[in-house]
Formats: sequence, structure tokens, C-alpha cells
Amino acid sequence: RAYNFNAGPAALPLEVLQRAQEELVDYNGIGMSIMEISHRSREYERVNEETQQLFRELLEIPEGYKVLFLQGGASMQFAMVPMNLLRPGTTAAYVDTGSWAKKALAEAKLLGEVQVVASSKDDQYTTIPDLSSLELSEQTAYLHITSNETIGGIQYKSFPDTGDVPLIADMSSDILSRPLDVSRFGLIYAGAQKNLGPSGVTVVIIREDLIQPAEHLPTMLRYSTHADNNSLYNTPPVYSIYMMNLVLQWIKENGGLAAMEKRNEEKAKLIYDVIDGSGGFYRGVAKPEYRSPMNITFRMANEELEKRFVEESQAAGFVGLKGHRSVGGLRASTYNAVPYESCQALQQFMLDFQKRHG
Ligand code: PLP
Repeated sequence: RAYNFNAGPAALPLEVLQRAQEELVDYNGIGMSIMEISHRSREYERVNEETQQLFRELLEIPEGYKVLFLQGGASMQFAMVPMNLLRPGTTAAYVDTGSWAKKALAEAKLLGEVQVVASSKDDQYTTIPDLSSLELSEQTAYLHITSNETIGGIQYKSFPDTGDVPLIADMSSDILSRPLDVSRFGLIYAGAQKNLGPSGVTVVIIREDLIQPAEHLPTMLRYSTHADNNSLYNTPPVYSIYMMNLVLQWIKENGGLAAMEKRNEEKAKLIYDVIDGSGGFYRGVAKPEYRSPMNITFRMANEELEKRFVEESQAAGFVGLKGHRSVGGLRASTYNAVPYESCQALQQFMLDFQKRHG
């Protein structure tokens, strides 16, 4: 298999793909695949329940939260969050940490009052702002953060204390990569296609008191619709949820979130060590304290050399090392499913490349 460092859709565990392959034409002895049966069937209802249960178990989600499986990607949540939670007379507070935070707040601006309460713009988005003395007014509907900026390669190492104001996080690119205290959050959302499975499903973990009837909204855009119907209001993306179920089982079998975190740190260290030891040949984009173990962003002396790096890496079997088109440079995405051996191979390739071109 390729050394897959794609940012998303991203690598899936080989064991998961093999099991899906085995079950593809005959799921659990029913003589069909899971894609070919009713979402109201016993078999699918079991997948739906079990997948929610696996989230509860892995993240130790306390009572009083619902786990929802929605469609429309994390991008739909950029709009659904303010639609459902930003009421007239209140203000939504956003932390601007780069590309994805900006997209989230742009949607909220279409729907109500928005305030950017902190930003790392002046640091060219290489840091996470210090939120320890953040003061939010009583009219604040929620505080929105992006726990991991997939494009910039920066990550929150701790989360702000927001008191009674619900903390909302886009965790698309680091959910289930480390243990998390869910009780600190009012709502967490994540598109699946990085750490959870294939695209097509978006996970929302929402505190029950934030689920309001919201009857002024179209039915599909209300959290209450999906909560009241156990994510079965309309036809769900059955195959994506089934695949996510297999990925969650894989995480559990491989030691859960503490083990994922340890392995992710070890994998990322292999690559950050090369960057730091290269004498400036490779330059890390993020400030070291905020470096993401999921998306490792780096630059080289000039674009010509970066282009060369991408070409030679492709020829050597590496995929997805080109930085996002909006920022350029290079990026290695090392999500849960990326094997340690792939990171070792990349480490070796980077050392060799420097020898040849340094
Ligand atoms: N938020 C973050 C942090 C992301 O990395 C992405 C996708 O890469 C998105 C949101 C958008 O997700 P989707 O494509 O599921 O709408």
C-alpha cells in the first residue's frame, strides 16, 4: 500500500478495509451487503446503536449528551450551529485560528451577530491565542473554536474555561486522536473523513439542553429533528456509518484514545525531529508549542525545491505531501490510521532528500 499522508479523505486502517471487503457482499449472513438493506432493519439499527455506543465508550461521554450522525459535512455544521444556537439579541464568539475557523465564522455572520474574540492572525496563524483571560459577555450564545487547523497545522493543547457559555468545537481533524473531557463542551462536531472513516457522515455530540425545538428552521436543519429520531429521520449514509463503526472498533482494539495519543505523538516526533535537526533545510510552519500531531506543515528554501520534494516523494511511493493549495508548502497528515512504519519511511526519505539537495 502507498504511504498515505493525505489530509482528507485520509488513510483508513488496513484491517478495517479488509474486514469491509470480507463483509461486502454478505454482511453477517444476510446474503446482501449492509448498503442494500433498509435503514429501518434490525441489522442497520444495531449498527446505528453500536456506533453511538462506541463513541460514548471511547470518549467517555457523560449522561446528558446525544451523539448524532448527520450529513452535509463539517461545512454544514458551520451553518447549523448558528442557525440553532444564535438567537436574536445574542452574539456568537469565534476564535480565528486560520482557514477553517474563518470559514465557520463567515457562515455565522450570514445568520447573526458575530464577534471575533481572539485571533492568531498577527502570528500568521502559527499559534493558538491565549484564551486564559478571555471574558465573554452575558449575551454570548457560545464560543466557537477549531481544535485542530488542518491547513495551518496548529492544535489546541488545552481548552478555555467558558463558564456558563457553551464551548463549541470543530474537531474534524483531531477527534479521537487523544483523550478528551467532553463535559467541557456544549457541542462537538467532526466530518468523518480524517480520523473516523470515509466521508459522508458528520458526527455531532451535543449537550441535551442545547437541543431546542427551533421550529422556525427547515426540518432537516434542526438538531431536534435528528435527536428525536435517533439519527434516522431520513435515510442515513449507511455505508459511511458502518465503516465508522469498524474504525471505532479498531481504535478500541488498539488501546483506545490514550494509546492513539501516544502513538500519534511518536509518529509526529519522527518527522518534527527531522525538521528541527535539518539546520533550516526544512522549516516547521507552526510554533513548536502549538504543533499539530495530525497535520505537520513545513516549508523549504523555495518553491522549486518544494516542487521537487513532492515529485520525488511521489516517485518513492508517498502520497499527499503537497500543502493545501491556499498556503502552499508541504504537509504530512498523520492521523490515527497512518502506520508508524509510514512515518519512519517518510523520516528516511526526508533525510535522504536533504543529503541529495542540501
Ligand atoms: N473543518 C476542518 C477543521 C476541516 O479540516 C475540514 C475539512 O478538511 C472541514 C471543516 C470541512 O469539512 P467537510 O468537507 O466535511 O465539510
